[in-house]
Amino acid sequence: MNLHNPQSIDPVCLTKLDTSMAIHQLTYRNVTYHFCSAHCQERFSEAAVFFSAPQRIDELHPIPKHHRLRVASVPEAIREVAGICLSEVRGVSNVLIGDGYADIDYDLRLVSLNQLEAAMKDAGLPLKGWLHGLRRSLWSFVEHNELENLASQPSPCCSRPPIRVR
Ligand SMILES: [Zn+2]
Repeated sequence: MNLHNPQSIDPVCLTKLDTSMAIHQLTYRNVTYHFCSAHCQERFSEAAVFFSAPQRIDELHPIPKHHRLRVASVPEAIREVAGICLSEVRGVSNVLIGDGYADIDYDLRLVSLNQLEAAMKDAGLPLKGWLHGLRRSLWSFVEHNELENLASQPSPCCSRPPIRVR
């Protein structure tokens, strides 16, 4: 990336940015990336191998995820506000919060389960621990591997079988 170029694209959400205005940035493998928000910068950091791959994320299909998360019982007013907060998180397509659970649909390219857990805590929805905490750790681990695998795959236009070297 040309550092003198005043235009840059957020590699996570593909928003065009004026780099002189962008306050969220980081350098990965000698390339400086700019982000529209702390959310996108954090998402990049979680899966830098994926987001720094030559393939842009809009060339990949959405990676829809659905999870039912167990949450503590909270008053309905808090559930409503939390539902609004969560539905505004980038990458979230659907949220349904009931008594003791939250059903969330999201696109793994744009938001991770880790980020959703943090957003839920911020919104006053405490997640259940113990076995459910272990299960969430496993889901996060699987998500991470899924992105790393995608990053290491050849792009669809070169899906020919590899030439065998004798
Ligand atoms: Zn962004």
